[in-house]
Amino acid sequence: MSALGSDSRVRASGRSLRRIWISSVAVLVAAIFFLGLLAASTHHFQRAVFEGTTSTHTKKASAVGELLVMKRQMTDPLVGVLYRLGGDEKAAVAKAEFDGLVVRFERALVVVEGLIENPAEEAHFGTALTVWDEVGVEIEKAWVNWNGETLADFLSQGEPPLMIPVWQRWTGIDNHLGDLQVEMSTTLETRADEVMSRLNVVGALVLGTVAVALLMAWMATRRLSRWVLRPLTEVSRAAQRLGESGAREPIAVPEGVAEVRELARVLSASAAALHESHGRLHTQAHVDSMTALPNRKAFLDRLGELVDGPGKVAVLFVDLDDFKHVNDSKGHAAGDELLRVLGLRLQAASRGCDIVARLGGDEFAVAMEVGEDPTAVVTVAERLRAALDAPVDLAAGRVRVGCSIGVAVTDDGTAPASAEELLGNADFAMYLAKNQGKNRAERYSVGLHAGVQARHELRNDLSMALERDQLVTYYQPVFALDSGELLGFEALVRWQHPERGLLLPESFLDLAEDSGAIIHIDAWVRDQACAMLAELRHHSPGQQMSVNLSPLDLASDGIVASIVATAERYANPPSNLVFEVTEGTAMTSTEGAAAALAELRQLGFHVALDDFGTGYSALRYLGELPADIVKVDRSFIHGPGSEQSCLLDSVVALVQHLGLHVVIEGIETPADLQRVSHYTGIAGQGFLFARPMPTTDALDYARHHAPIPSAAG
Ligand code: C2E
Ligand code: CA
Ligand code: CA
Repeated sequence: MSALGSDSRVRASGRSLRRIWISSVAVLVAAIFFLGLLAASTHHFQRAVFEGTTSTHTKKASAVGELLVMKRQMTDPLVGVLYRLGGDEKAAVAKAEFDGLVVRFERALVVVEGLIENPAEEAHFGTALTVWDEVGVEIEKAWVNWNGETLADFLSQGEPPLMIPVWQRWTGIDNHLGDLQVEMSTTLETRADEVMSRLNVVGALVLGTVAVALLMAWMATRRLSRWVLRPLTEVSRAAQRLGESGAREPIAVPEGVAEVRELARVLSASAAALHESHGRLHTQAHVDSMTALPNRKAFLDRLGELVDGPGKVAVLFVDLDDFKHVNDSKGHAAGDELLRVLGLRLQAASRGCDIVARLGGDEFAVAMEVGEDPTAVVTVAERLRAALDAPVDLAAGRVRVGCSIGVAVTDDGTAPASAEELLGNADFAMYLAKNQGKNRAERYSVGLHAGVQARHELRNDLSMALERDQLVTYYQPVFALDSGELLGFEALVRWQHPERGLLLPESFLDLAEDSGAIIHIDAWVRDQACAMLAELRHHSPGQQMSVNLSPLDLASDGIVASIVATAERYANPPSNLVFEVTEGTAMTSTEGAAAALAELRQLGFHVALDDFGTGYSALRYLGELPADIVKVDRSFIHGPGSEQSCLLDSVVALVQHLGLHVVIEGIETPADLQRVSHYTGIAGQGFLFARPMPTTDALDYARHHAPIPSAAG
């Protein structure tokens, strides 16, 4: 086998399947033609020999045969009779004698021995001819100077059957016939010999031709195998290897016919082209065209190598915070430009050995080997974040986008099995960073993940809690601290989770807020609370029921109508219902929410400002808020020292001064109660008096509760 370059040798040999084919066909045609020629000439020769022999001899033999027949039939010398007879008599005889002959002869030749010498003979002869003519026998007249030789000549000329005057030398004829037979058989023998020798030659030629053809076939097979089949096999094997090597190995051009070599050359060229386009595709498949950074696939490939190595590996998942805004406000070209600039910045802020990639959209990732110091990676993350945070001057103007970074390291608890998993963890941490207010870095940990996962599951469960009847309303009593009188209850939702047991609002309400399910939950609680209130009012018509409202409730359409409808369904007067909204909600609520609260108050419902003191505590706005009750958060009496109590004093005084009612929350101990004992006209709620309880307990409590410990002591 020769390599691609050894063209000259190949060309010099000049073998081509086409040529082999043409020459084979030519040889075949020549052989067929030759054999055909041989057959034709043999046939022709045989025909000529036999025909020549047979026709001449047949004619002679039949003439002789006729003569012999005549000799047998004609006992009387006819012509002699004709000569001798005269007139009518002659005619009659001629006729009689001839009737038999006419059947055989259409023509007759009268052969007369010797010359007709006298007029009388001639006249006789003429008369005979006339008679024959009359009877319809065509007579060829011949004056023959008879002798045997003349007759033989005559016969050999293939003349028509003769009628011969039989008185002449029959013996001569017999002799002549004998000669003729001998001559015929000798001729036949000679001719047969000729034919035989000719046939031998033909046979030898045929045999030779067949042998030559066989030899040529054998040679052609060998050539076919050597110049076609073997090189073809080589090329097909090389083509197979081509597939396995990703078209990396060129195909060697084997020795063989031009067509196969051409095939190898073409295949080799296509392989080279394939290899090249493979390379191009590889680049396209691995490089992000916008930033010229490795793309997600390339990143994962290289991260996989890093992860498989011995060192610890960190992945930083970088997601721009307000990229969409830039895209929307400045156009996609500006967005693209920003991505390019930030890609460069990321590269500049990382080490040369780190892998910086664009994962897609506004997501980048950096992978790096980290040493033993776990804080180092956070430092790097911080450096990257700062690099991206700086303003960018685009053609469309200056923009600034922060980024949220999720960090995952291979030893974050369980060792990640794969690059994908590590990237997934970093992605997860990035998501947390976003959730925690963006433009920050968050590090992944297994606990974090588990917590998030658990909450994810809980969120799913919550979506079905209502329809599965898993929610329960608990009621906590509220007292007038001066008199110890039970003013009413606050309705508080609980979730009887099938696996986790009774869950408090803190473990699921934020999920409900997130998903919007809170609106349905609160409506359900309102309904329960109103039913409960109706029940309570049987015994004590002045009882109040406090129900919590979430900001989403207030923002939802028809909240007032829904509240009114629920109250009416159980015939509860608005004045017996208190709706609690947190300070934050009340302060930041939209106009619609504020209007809803005002409307509720107008309709006679009470509105309480819940958890007062935990939010803005903008005392300035206290008087403007659409509320008539302020529930002071329990942190006021639970903080250590008199500072709090002094603060509490001021808050209570201020609220009362504004004409609002005060409810102190979280009275847990007698000491707590003691601390609020000097206020007048306030209400209180807390574990010291009663914990939230289920409906039946609450009803029971309402009827039979013992007097609460007096605040005054
Ligand atoms: P909140 O409106 O301030 O309700 C009072 C919370 O303080 C209740 O917690 C109650 O159990 C707790 N509490 C009462 N007395 C004491 C005490 O002496 N010490 C301590 N440490 N805590 C006391 P709960 O039931 O876990 O409810 C928590 C919060 O969930 C409620 O705070 C309220 O903001 C919200 N919430 C409860 N039920 C609902 C509801 O049906 N709808 C809405 N939107 N929010 C609700
Ligand atoms: Ca409340
Ligand atoms: Ca509260």
